[in-house]
This record gives sequence, C-alpha cells and structure tokens, in this order.
Amino acid sequence: MPVEHLTKNEEPTAAPKTPASRLPPSVEGPDIHMHTSRIDIKIGFACNNKCDFCVQGDKRYRYGPRPFDQMRADLEDGRRRGARGIVITGGEPTIHSNVLDVVSLAREMGYETVQIQSNGRMFSHLPFCEKAIAAGANEFALSLHGSTAETHEKLVRASGAFRQVVNGIRNLARLGQFVIMNTVITSVNYRELPDLARLMVGLGVRQYQFAFVHILGTAAKNATWLVPRKTDVMPFVKEGLDVGLQAGVRCMTEAIPYCLMTGYEPYVAELIIPRTTVFDADMMLNDYTEYRLTEGKAKGPNCRSCVYFDRCEGPWVEYPELFGWEEFQPVLELPETDR
Ligand code: SF4
Repeated sequence: MPVEHLTKNEEPTAAPKTPASRLPPSVEGPDIHMHTSRIDIKIGFACNNKCDFCVQGDKRYRYGPRPFDQMRADLEDGRRRGARGIVITGGEPTIHSNVLDVVSLAREMGYETVQIQSNGRMFSHLPFCEKAIAAGANEFALSLHGSTAETHEKLVRASGAFRQVVNGIRNLARLGQFVIMNTVITSVNYRELPDLARLMVGLGVRQYQFAFVHILGTAAKNATWLVPRKTDVMPFVKEGLDVGLQAGVRCMTEAIPYCLMTGYEPYVAELIIPRTTVFDADMMLNDYTEYRLTEGKAKGPNCRSCVYFDRCEGPWVEYPELFGWEEFQPVLELPETDR
C-alpha cells in the first residue's frame, strides 16, 4: 500500500564518496571466505530471543529440532552438489543439542567453511566458544541490533542479551576467530548505525553487514512501526559504512538497491552472496539466488531504464507494497564510483 511519495529533491544527501581505487586492500581484495556454492541448514526454530523483526514468525511453535539423521542427509546432499561451505542457522542453532555434532560431521565430510549463524548469546560462555572451534567451526556470524543495551534488547526482547553478544564477540576475537556481524535495519535502530559500527570495529569484528528488514513473519506483523523508509535510513547507513571503510574492515549492505547506494555501490552484498541451497523446515530451496531474483525481490515500473537493471535485484517485494516505488529512481549513467 503506497503511502507518501518522495520527489527527486528529497533524495538522501550524498555522503563523501570513496572511490573503489582508494579503498583499503582488505576491502577490495577477493573474499577467501566466500564460496561459489554453499548450503544453509535451518537446524531448528527454537530461540532464546523473540525479535520483533524475525522472518521466521511462528515456526518456533510449529517445528521441532531437525533430527540429526536428517542433517547428515542434508550434508551429504550438499557435498553431492559441490558445496564447500555450510551455514548452520535456525532459529537459534546454538541451543540445538546436536549443533557441534553437525559442525564436526561437516568438517569430516570435507566442508571447508563452517559458519554458525547465531544471535550470539551462547558465545558469552568461553567454554562453548572453545568447543565450537575444536569441533571445526571457522566462521561466526553474530547479530547486534543497537549500539546500546536499551536498543538491542528492545528489538530482541531479551534482557541481558546485549552484554552477552558483546562478550561473545570479545571471546571469539580473542580466540582469533573470523567474526561477521549482521544488523537488521529498523525504525528503532537506524540512527545508531554509525555508533554501532564504531562499537563493532572496536570489538575486533572482521566484517559487518547492515541488512534492511525483510517484512515477513514477525516483521510483517510489526511493519507499521518497525519498517523505516529507505531514503530516511541511507545517510546513517553510509556513515556506518564509512566507519568500516576507514578502519579497513569489510562492510556491506543487503536489500538496498544501487539507486540508493550512490557512492557506495561496491558494498552491495548481493554482488558476492554465493549460490546457496537452503534446507528449511519442510522444504528445500534449490538456489536462494534464483529465488530472490524470481520471487523474493522485484523491480519497479521505472527500473528498465536504469543502468543497474541487470545487476540489481531490487527490494524485497513487500517493501514497495508498503511504500510504493517512488524512492527507486533509475540511475541513467554509471557513476564514477562504480567504473
Ligand atoms: S534497477 Fe530499480 S531498484 Fe535497482 S537500482 Fe535501478 S532503479 Fe533502483
């Protein structure tokens, strides 16, 4: 349902541009942690948070933990497909009793990259970090959604969670692990993105991503107060990216099309998301990239004339249903920052 429309004059103020040629080598270089093919196993939907933006909605009440034999079959299937990386996710995977067994089995089967994608709370326990590393996990994708306990805990609805995630990052960083952070951009936290970026860089994270809220599940129920306009968040997103770029920390955005990323085009995460097969509760998604391109995301009536038409995935389909297409103005000439 379209609401108020923006005119061109209301486009976000462009932040100082950072040409790709002047970026730190760690940002420009190839990402050895990305593979052309990986699998994503949702090992259960139980969770010790209750996030206002959760895309999984009420699955925690409908599905039990994924049986270990099923996960063994998923891993075998992934290897047959040529996958070399695995993302273990949920729900909250660290509260599944077999999570470290899956990690070990994945490494035994030859998976090179084993990522645990977590709300981060369990990693505040140092022995759990050590066990996960000993089992073979070598990427830790944690979440932080505010620069303060008040903001983070308001969004995840769990008292004490902020301190636990911060301690978890510290533990993993001290143990020399590759810590990747994800932040969901909402109306509640977008003004804090620069401070949050400074916090994460100071804690020693190696990569962070700002992902625009996907209006599904619980997020859809909360859409009226949870979802900001993209044009409103962009100045804060860009300032948050600048923090990482200046520190040589890899950073990116997800679900924000190029027309809103002026000057920051190389940091669109969709450029590098590997082809992924998803093993979900009661279905398998053969190719998540294909799903985004054909069903999950869309382009608008003016997009044909945009120089990014072929490269761009567009926003998730639910966003223009809420706000219309006026914010997405075609880019008519490739900008200097993307040549
Ligand atoms: S194709 Fe559409 S959504 Fe994508 S950058 Fe261009 S105008 Fe924006």
